[in-house]
Amino acid sequence: SLFGLPDQPAHERVLLAADEQTGLKAILAVHSTARGPAFGGCRFWTYDNELAALNDALRLSQGMSLKNALADLPFGGGKAVILKPAQWNASQFDRPALFAAFARAVQSLAGSYITAEDVGTTTADMLGMQQITPYVSGIPRAGAFGGDPSPKTAWGVFVSIRAGVRQVLGRESLEGVRVALQGLGAVGWHLAEFLHQAGAKLVVADIDAAKVARAVEQFGAQAVGVHEILAAEVDVVAPNALGATLNAQSIPALRAALVCGAANNQLATAADGDALQARGITYLPDYLVNAGGIISVAREYRNEGEEQAVMAEVSKIGDRVVELLERVKHEDSTPGRVADAWARSKLVKPA
Ligand code: NAD
Repeated sequence: SLFGLPDQPAHERVLLAADEQTGLKAILAVHSTARGPAFGGCRFWTYDNELAALNDALRLSQGMSLKNALADLPFGGGKAVILKPAQWNASQFDRPALFAAFARAVQSLAGSYITAEDVGTTTADMLGMQQITPYVSGIPRAGAFGGDPSPKTAWGVFVSIRAGVRQVLGRESLEGVRVALQGLGAVGWHLAEFLHQAGAKLVVADIDAAKVARAVEQFGAQAVGVHEILAAEVDVVAPNALGATLNAQSIPALRAALVCGAANNQLATAADGDALQARGITYLPDYLVNAGGIISVAREYRNEGEEQAVMAEVSKIGDRVVELLERVKHEDSTPGRVADAWARSKLVKPA
């Protein structure tokens, strides 16, 4: 449905923004402003078609509403996607001009949507946009807190894995715990560092062979192919690439007891959450565990950014994982369904 996903609250507003001069085609989706302005990153991506881009924007913005609510942030959920034509490479478009046009679209929403970095966008893009609109965050500032949220996202996923391993595997430490990392990008790499420092044994895959080689060298990781990583013989699988990787094809082959990673929209469908549960695999919902980045940019936006305080807030994600797994036990349900209901109950203006 153009007004949202089946069984989900409709979006408050969706803006299609085009600019002939720069070639901008963007979709800005404001899912909910019940808790405050809709806050969520901007993705710059090549889609098969415009409907696929719209679907991504709607799914991601709704996920932001749930993520921001569960993280107790005074923000609603929104997300933007800029459609990148397949034939564009770096020299074929004027990146600063494109993001300036996008910033004008953000500005036109008069603060009901605040943007930040996401897949395909950079802190430099955010910095440029700040010349045009104040409704942007994730901006590096010399000597001050701010910028790239991915280390904070990785920390949130790390504390979630630690909590999940304790609850599900009954192991007090990550020493010797085997973790498969799908994707060694901005978040995946930091996560690999945290896990390695904690004594975990890493199995890694990325389409970028150079990143894999670095992980083998720095962390003593075992490299496997991108088609084998989800089925690796490990305790934990951490999807940190793109969405919908947990689906009817991948789930039957999984050998881990716990799935916990940063990628947004990991479940292809809600039924895939049930399928994981039926196989005895605990799935920690992506929007619960990957909130570290939005916590970071939200604090930066509110000028409350201070490294230690942000890290302490991100660390609370681990407590929420424990609470979620307790609720799952009592409600005899799946983590995905319990987290959804928990988050929806918070889609109201904070007291
Ligand atoms: P990124 O683009 O830096 O990293 C993605 C990595 O995945 C890249 O190294 C890429 O080569 C690799 N990859 C792509 N397809 C792959 C495949 N099929 N198999 C294995 N590896 C593959 O992105 P990121 O910022 O690290 O974000 C990763 C995921 O986490 C995304 O889904 C993003 O939406 C989500 N996320 C990121 C943040 C953040 O703070 N950056 C916050 C919340 C959620």
